Amino acid sequence: MAFPITSSQGSKTETLLKYLNLAQGEQVQVMYVWIDGTGENVRAKTKTLNAEPHSIEELPIWNYDGSSTYQAEGSNSDVYLKPVCMVSDPFRGGKNKLVLCETFKYNWKPTETNNRLQCKKTMDLVKEAVPWFGIEQEYTLMDVDGHPLGWPKNGFPAPQGPYYCGVGANKVFGRDVVESHYRACIYAGIKIGGENAEVMPSQWEYQIGPCEGIEMGDHLWISRFMLHRVCEDFNIVASLDPKPVKGDWNGAGCHTNFSTIGMRAPEGLIEIEAAVDKLSTQHDRHIRCYDPNKGADNARRLTGAHETSPITDFSAGIANRGCSIRIPRQVGEDRCGYLEDRRPASNCDPYLVTEAIVKTVILGKWEDD
Ligand code: ADP
Ligand code: MN
Ligand code: MN
Ligand code: MN
Repeated sequence: MAFPITSSQGSKTETLLKYLNLAQGEQVQVMYVWIDGTGENVRAKTKTLNAEPHSIEELPIWNYDGSSTYQAEGSNSDVYLKPVCMVSDPFRGGKNKLVLCETFKYNWKPTETNNRLQCKKTMDLVKEAVPWFGIEQEYTLMDVDGHPLGWPKNGFPAPQGPYYCGVGANKVFGRDVVESHYRACIYAGIKIGGENAEVMPSQWEYQIGPCEGIEMGDHLWISRFMLHRVCEDFNIVASLDPKPVKGDWNGAGCHTNFSTIGMRAPEGLIEIEAAVDKLSTQHDRHIRCYDPNKGADNARRLTGAHETSPITDFSAGIANRGCSIRIPRQVGEDRCGYLEDRRPASNCDPYLVTEAIVKTVILGKWEDD
């Protein structure tokens, strides 16, 4: 399908550009981005600063109405925004910024969906192991009516097979979104490693990483905000539902690739295998951290079919995509590298996922042990 060159408000892009090209003097627009009370969706609003900020410390604490984001009662509704990660804004360009924020209640306790605070503390404890992560973010493009993009309105496309890494107007839908988002991430300095079309038509993936420690969650969340924002320009919606279409269609995950300094060193396979053993003892705990609904979302996806392992079972194998944990073939051959945890859902919170892996594999304990 051809995309209308309009924003969701219907203004022509060239008209919008007329305004975006106006000089802004010394003033800078900083868009504050945060995770709302769903733990899955992001919100954003903008503040004008009188000079370009060059470090996160120069950005003021701000606040918003948490009663409108499922995060507070109306009678005590102010929630604080604490800037944590700043990048160049690809949407406004120039000196303008996007900034990811942590959220805090009136008493400066973290909100229920501020999982970054605890993740950062845990990552600080394991710095010496130099934990690296790479997350493969899968998502599905939808029309604004909730129907998968490019699918016949009264039926289904031909069965899965030709779509993965496909090319051609009858194989892939929404590549303009993918291209725009990819370049926007590079412009912003987000560590995007690549993209590919997925097994289900109109499903796509991009990879963020390798990132060390807390940077994994920060970069993935900013990349998700940018995906939704790019889609808005094309009047398309990106869904992070882990099983957007029932039936014989692949679900969407956030495969999480992980290594420590020891796993990357010669004969690191021994440490990778030790990590798999530890992970095998904490399967249920990990599943509760791998989607925002404590496993309920992932239960629709981890069925044992469609390149998944059943949600109730733990399994591991070299080059096996039907396992919970896959050791890539190359890693088996090199006898060092990383492992892939295939369980996290597409709508997972990467702060919870990366922290769970670090607690099990590096710290070897959870607070409630
Ligand atoms: P797949 O074959 O599962 O589709 P991808 O190429 O999509 O794999 O993703 C591989 C991911 O692994 C990337 O996000 C990359 O950053 C990450 N990665 C590569 N090396 C390491 C490493 N040593 N530690 C952690 N992650 C890594
Ligand atoms: Mn991949
Ligand atoms: Mn994939
Ligand atoms: Mn993968």
